[in-house]
Amino acid sequence: MSSFDATGLTAHAARGLLDRGEVSSYELTRAALDRIHEVDGRVGAFVTVTEAEALEAARAADRRISDGEGGPLTGIPVQVKDNICTRGVRTTCSSRMLESYVPPYDAAVVERLRRGGAVIVGKGNLDEFAMGSSTENSAFFPTRNPWDLSRVPGGSSGGPAAAVASGECVFSLGSDTGGSIRQPAALCGVVGFKPTYGLVSRYGLVAFASSLDQIGPLTRDVTDSAMALSAIAGHDRRDSTSLEYEAPDYTRALREDLTGLRIGVPVEYFAAGIEQGVGEAAHAAIGALEDLGARVEETSLPHTEHALAVYYIIAPSEASANLARYDGVKYGYSAREAGGMWDALDRTRQDGFGPEVKRRIMLGTYALSAGYYDAYYLKAQRVRTLIAREFRAAFEDFDALVTPTSPSVAFELGEKTADPVQMYLSDILTMPANIAGIPAVSLPAGMSDGLPVGLQLLAAPLREETLFRIAYAYEQATEWHRLRPEL
Ligand code: GLN
Repeated sequence: MSSFDATGLTAHAARGLLDRGEVSSYELTRAALDRIHEVDGRVGAFVTVTEAEALEAARAADRRISDGEGGPLTGIPVQVKDNICTRGVRTTCSSRMLESYVPPYDAAVVERLRRGGAVIVGKGNLDEFAMGSSTENSAFFPTRNPWDLSRVPGGSSGGPAAAVASGECVFSLGSDTGGSIRQPAALCGVVGFKPTYGLVSRYGLVAFASSLDQIGPLTRDVTDSAMALSAIAGHDRRDSTSLEYEAPDYTRALREDLTGLRIGVPVEYFAAGIEQGVGEAAHAAIGALEDLGARVEETSLPHTEHALAVYYIIAPSEASANLARYDGVKYGYSAREAGGMWDALDRTRQDGFGPEVKRRIMLGTYALSAGYYDAYYLKAQRVRTLIAREFRAAFEDFDALVTPTSPSVAFELGEKTADPVQMYLSDILTMPANIAGIPAVSLPAGMSDGLPVGLQLLAAPLREETLFRIAYAYEQATEWHRLRPEL
């Protein structure tokens, strides 16, 4: 292969090379697989590598490209988080419960990727059932941060973020229920986009908290994010929450100046608990947005302080209902040696779920039980409405809001595993967007002690284009997205 670094390539750069015949998809795919063999023993970003299928798909992509029938993603090596169903390929959710589950169908986003000719090289590690912020809750092995292997990559999409950062694939798809795309993107120095609730079909995404879950891309830069989201967004009647909305080509929104845009800085997101290095990077980024022509002003979202409490009622409640299906009968792990039906059900769930998943099921079952429903679940739903309304009001004054993505840079493995609440606080700045259903993106925006810092942008529902415009202008004016970890 020619002299460029295949493992640092963006999808849009690869597109040019593929279309000009300077590289083949086979070579790009081989390079991604070689990189996986070289580094994944240390990083742990993949639960499954689909080498043979990938090489076959790459050859098919090369034929398509030479016939002039390729699309934007044809021939690009990608990863998919392992809670997104892939036909014929194990989809584990990094759980013993689904360790040998092979779905008979593709998720809608996987169908779209395949139809577009993307090459799936494997499945990304995650916190079990996407519950966690460090990928340490994977039942198999933790993922490590490519910037410092003693640190976590964030979570729950730690595998996807680490795979993109370390050059094991060009981009990956993750899921975001309370921050699981954006927080790991921030901690690994990549771009993570959580779309508006309902923009991307969740058909074939293993459900965690259905009123919050969204799928979105983790990419090396903003252009790739726009390309990937354009490919996966759009109505799907198989997901009843899918919006009847024709998604545009988001790459058209990429522009270099921000003149006339109004950007709000909500003070609550810069309060105590934010690491100094993170706060400084965010403030520097805000200065850069002003230099690009945006009108930046402080604002206040006082209901933010309740977001964590609301999330930890609603998400576990929905999880307890969604996870009731793992009964050892229909699919997944089953305690075969059990004495009778109830014993089998008990033991399947005892052995099949890890401690964090059990904690969520218990929290949710409690919050939904008779006598507590009104005090917890119903009240949380009411506060949820207040949070959504507060955002709606803010977006009457501002086109977008800017905040740090995560209160801290990547922390050490084991640092927060003993205290669930410390772990939960990792997502304090990202959860409000899920609660309100609004789109949000995290971008590389600085370094603190040699570790990446992420900047979060939020906009009103279906204003993805505004986010892409601001993100792109910021990215073009800075160099952070070009930094790569040395492995
Ligand atoms: N860390 C949060 C949780 O544990 C969010 C996870 C997610 O977005 N999937 O629930």
